[in-house]
Amino acid sequence: MESATIAQANDVIAKTYKRFPLVLTRGSGCTLWDENGKRYTDFVAGIAVCNLGHAHPKIIEALAIQARTLWHVSNLFYTLPQKDLAAWLTAHSFADRVFFCNSGAEANEAAIKLARKYFNEAGQGQRYRIISMEQSFHGRTMATLSATGQEKVKLGFDPLLDGFDFVPFDDVAAIRARIGPETCAVLLEPIQGEGGVRCPAPEFLKQVRALCDETGLLLIFDEIQTGMGRTGTLFAYEQFGITPDIMTLAKALANGLPMGAMLAREQVAAAFGPGAHASTFGGTPIVSAAALEVCRVMEADGIVDHCRRVSVYFHSRLEWLKQRHAMIADVRGMGLLLGIRLSVDGEPFVLKCMEKGFLINCVQGNILRFVPPLIIREEEIDALIACLDEILDA
Ligand SMILES: *Cc1c(COP(=O)(O)O)cnc(C)c1O
Repeated sequence: MESATIAQANDVIAKTYKRFPLVLTRGSGCTLWDENGKRYTDFVAGIAVCNLGHAHPKIIEALAIQARTLWHVSNLFYTLPQKDLAAWLTAHSFADRVFFCNSGAEANEAAIKLARKYFNEAGQGQRYRIISMEQSFHGRTMATLSATGQEKVKLGFDPLLDGFDFVPFDDVAAIRARIGPETCAVLLEPIQGEGGVRCPAPEFLKQVRALCDETGLLLIFDEIQTGMGRTGTLFAYEQFGITPDIMTLAKALANGLPMGAMLAREQVAAAFGPGAHASTFGGTPIVSAAALEVCRVMEADGIVDHCRRVSVYFHSRLEWLKQRHAMIADVRGMGLLLGIRLSVDGEPFVLKCMEKGFLINCVQGNILRFVPPLIIREEEIDALIACLDEILDA
């Protein structure tokens, strides 16, 4: 059925997105409904954003209370939700300080600026170059676009920001070879999400950490997609036995309200003094209150443990599927950041899933990505597997 909403939207909204012909109107838990009342199980979660699902009663309540109390005052003042959220995040990570902003790109902007400022403060202003990974994704602002290792998102925007050198992901020798007297940091996603749900070899991140220690480089982890429980620990770095110096978060931090954060250990964070960086909306009380409740619910309801348990199940079901369908080349990912690589174009299967009431997405042309809310249940996974089993050719 031709939707009037879609026709009107196509007349007035910028053409930057290739959207599915679907108008979503309501959500609850892992379920979404479209304008015709058809229901879908959500394996996209707003692209790894709605980790606690849609319309979570506790988040709604926290938000409603804060909405009646205080929305916004600017960062000229202290507020309780921002203080409590920063305290929670530092207590649960390697970091000592948090800078709040409104998106992933902004968090990475802050990280890039902090890395440069850190060496400037140390009297080594000539060190400003950052080694980034091929196939990486760090955002769409000019600096984060420049830091991104995918040509398709950079086309037509020259000149980009100078100071980024690219090496293949998962290749520590390539990083070593790229380090020069101007290098200040290594920037990477512990698991490349947009780049195709790519996990590095188990020792890679540890080796990068050792290399950064040896050469005095800062290590920046973009955990915008992998953070907040997505991979089965609160932050992905925990599973590799190391810590970064700077970490960026966004996506799931406030379960769908716009929020980004840049976290750093004290010695590094110290390079950002008063006036060094700022954001009008960053850490505003209304969004911080939602994020704080997200953190509390994750802890109180054992969400990360649930994610780990259910992901083992999901992974095994995908492996079962792979045995039955030769067109599945591999099963990949960690926690509930999972994917299957197909030997054919993935987009038609996304549409077939949609017809059958499941929302999934496709990255890099042939990788079906599954990033459901972390509260997803085995029954919902079984239903998706049955759907995939039906639509994939033998
Ligand atoms: C989504 C994403 C970003 C960009 O976040 P925005 O909020 O869209 O700016 C950056 N890095 C990674 C790893 C992401 O997944």
